[in-house]
Amino acid sequence: MFANIPAPASDEIIDLMARSSNDERAFKVDLTVGVYKDSNDNTLLMKAVKEADQLLAKAGRNKSYVGSKGDLEYVQLLQELVLANQSVNGYISGVQTAGGSGGLRAILDVIKLANPDAKIWVSDPTYANHIPTIIAAGLAYEEYPFIDHKTMMLDEQGMFNRLEKLGKNDVVLLHGSCHNPSGLRLTSQHWQQIAQLSNSTHFLPLIDTAYQGFADGLTEDAAGLLTVANTVERLALCVSCSKNFGVYSDRVGAAYILSPTEEEANTVQAQLAIMSKTTYWVPPSNGAEIVKTILKTPALKKMWSDELSQINVKIKGIRAKLCAAFRQHSGDNYFDYILSQEGMFAMLPASEEQMELLRVDYGVYGLNNGRINLASIPEQDIDYLVTSVLAVTRA
Ligand code: PMP
Repeated sequence: MFANIPAPASDEIIDLMARSSNDERAFKVDLTVGVYKDSNDNTLLMKAVKEADQLLAKAGRNKSYVGSKGDLEYVQLLQELVLANQSVNGYISGVQTAGGSGGLRAILDVIKLANPDAKIWVSDPTYANHIPTIIAAGLAYEEYPFIDHKTMMLDEQGMFNRLEKLGKNDVVLLHGSCHNPSGLRLTSQHWQQIAQLSNSTHFLPLIDTAYQGFADGLTEDAAGLLTVANTVERLALCVSCSKNFGVYSDRVGAAYILSPTEEEANTVQAQLAIMSKTTYWVPPSNGAEIVKTILKTPALKKMWSDELSQINVKIKGIRAKLCAAFRQHSGDNYFDYILSQEGMFAMLPASEEQMELLRVDYGVYGLNNGRINLASIPEQDIDYLVTSVLAVTRA
């Protein structure tokens, strides 16, 4: 049965993490995985998450099945968070999923059912798991221009020239905030333009929100999504709580679809749940219980959003220090692009070969496309990182 199956491509991030941990040099900087670490290089466990976990343990809840749609109170509370408590025209259906990844897959399955000829447009570049998930769902994909590799800024003209040519069989996958891997910002004007184009060309916007609170704040980071939700008739949204609650391994997420009628919304919701039902029957509930407890307990919600603000301040500080160091060591302001971006990631203007040189010669680990996780840079290593990058890219 299995003798002739092809081996899948290996996972770049997992491979690089392993290479970095096997690197026996005393000095190395691992900026590969997209996890927020504290100053001791440990994945941060937020205080609010710890307290919610303890509250739940004390309450002695049972571990019964939650149903394929998941816990609908959690789904509603998360929807309110993601939409910054604003209401939108139309009917939103939602289900709980295993992470944002599960949310994306549930949406893609429903798109495939609704229109097997749909094509998913992803930004060039995009999050490493987007394209494999689209392929696994049996849908076609293509890339739209996003980053200008010379300036490392948004290729605004390239992006809009492409989007304005799309039509009703097209789905445009956008990142709600903090684009992974580029960190590039879409302005409120860009979001308005996207929303209007969706209305005129009838492409479906599919927004992946995985970093709410990592750019300018919980409410501010919802602005782009709200602009689109208030303009278009239909919208798909997948949400990850992995980063902003730091509950990576608990697998906490959701999928939502905005529809013009209640009847459509109910059918869509039932179909969204089929992905869970036919893959793992019901979504995992421990992490969703924690997130729900935080969102419905005002003191915990405040504690959590304060912690998130501190993360935000720290990342902004790293961006500023990194830019200052690049200015100092390069004598120019090319790397100021890092300051105009948002979230945990930035891309270095380096080829795959140069990223490999960084690993081999300097023990600096980033992804092949140049992505580095800023939140993982120890402050004392900024100068080392900057001089290594300059040595490799400007040799
Ligand atoms: N979307 C984006 C843009 C991401 O960066 C990630 C996580 N790296 C995900 C989705 C997946 O999130 P989760 O771990 O919740 O499945």
